[in-house]
Amino acid sequence: MELPKLAVFDLDYTLWPFWVDTHVDPPFHKSSDGTVRDRRGQTIRLYPEVPEVLDRFRGLGVPVAAASRTGEIEGAKQLLELFDLDRYFVQREIYPGSKVTHFERLRQKTGVPFSQMLFFDDEKRNIVDVSKLGVTCIHVQNGMNLQVLTQGLETFAKAQAGP
Ligand SMILES: [Mg+2]
Repeated sequence: MELPKLAVFDLDYTLWPFWVDTHVDPPFHKSSDGTVRDRRGQTIRLYPEVPEVLDRFRGLGVPVAAASRTGEIEGAKQLLELFDLDRYFVQREIYPGSKVTHFERLRQKTGVPFSQMLFFDDEKRNIVDVSKLGVTCIHVQNGMNLQVLTQGLETFAKAQAGP
């Protein structure tokens, strides 16, 4: 099966179940029990299968990047670091605006053409915008998990096979 050369993940409601600029209160920290918490002490969690999903891509030799439109740039970067996810991401494009910009920069920085990218996002408008570039896009409905990963790889392989 043909694999993508870059897998790109949205953050809010794709890797974690909240908007980092709205529902939680940065800055974040790791408490003595190892949980990640926000300023008010609220426990912050990823969707449970996210580390395994990223491990799976690593095992397949597929580099991973993040593309987020959040305005809470520092908070988002901090969460990637506190959840020990930084080590998976070859690029992080985190700033407001159309995701077309995020993807153009990813293409410039990685040299991977749009047709070789696979993108996961919970928001339909991002899927619509990024699909137009020729990226294979997967609409994530209940957070990233292993089933969505498999669906993504199959959809990518089919797209390569042509109509
Ligand atoms: Mg999102």
